[in-house]
Amino acid sequence: MTFDSLRFDADGLIPGLVQSRTGELRMMAWLNREALRLTLDTGFVTFWSRSRQALWVKGESSGNRLKLVQIRPDCDADALLIVADPEGPSCHRGTESCFDGEPWPATLPWLGRLEALLKSRKASADLNGSYTQKLFAQGVDRIAKKVVEEAGEVILAAKNDDREAFLGEAADLLFHLDLLLLERGASLLEVVEVLHHRHADRSGGPA
Ligand code: AMP
Ligand code: ZN
Ligand code: ZN
Ligand code: ZN
Repeated sequence: MTFDSLRFDADGLIPGLVQSRTGELRMMAWLNREALRLTLDTGFVTFWSRSRQALWVKGESSGNRLKLVQIRPDCDADALLIVADPEGPSCHRGTESCFDGEPWPATLPWLGRLEALLKSRKASADLNGSYTQKLFAQGVDRIAKKVVEEAGEVILAAKNDDREAFLGEAADLLFHLDLLLLERGASLLEVVEVLHHRHADRSGGPA
């Protein structure tokens, strides 16, 4: 990809839309050529602050940096999609995304939010009433047993006409599979990466 043909506006700026690796839209801010160069050189997303008229490394004071994964321009090269791994919330209000506020829709990126919550359950020692925390405390064998149990329930439900029950059991299975992944230090995102990699291998499509 070339950055030579980017179309900066009259002020020398281009909008940068930041998306987390899990697919959620985090924030939008502006870059000039220098901010883009610094982002590519340092691996941390850097903007141009229009209010302060200064380069702004996202997270420079909050610590909530954005680790660069990939940048690509849109169809007519007047906007940038910046994929990054956020090291914390991305909005100055303390919310994960600048677009938070309304109830989070049931989209696939929400799984990343759920997984972050489950990880914090695993990290917490306080056993007050959390089912998830208890399962983590009981360890890999207990969680694995739940996965097998839920898989059995999915199979039974698949043979009935109760669509709601089928979806519910599939949700149970996915949830417990995620717990098992997290227990072993892995994540759903890594599983998706495996699927994506297999697909790319076979089709010769984009990696
Ligand atoms: P930070 O880069 O997170 O250390 O924040 C530094 C300053 O940048 C904050 O005090 C805000 O003024 C501004 N800021 C941080 N995050 C955002 C954002 N997502 N959108 C707009 N302004 C922001
Ligand atoms: Zn465009
Ligand atoms: Zn914000
Ligand atoms: Zn179940």
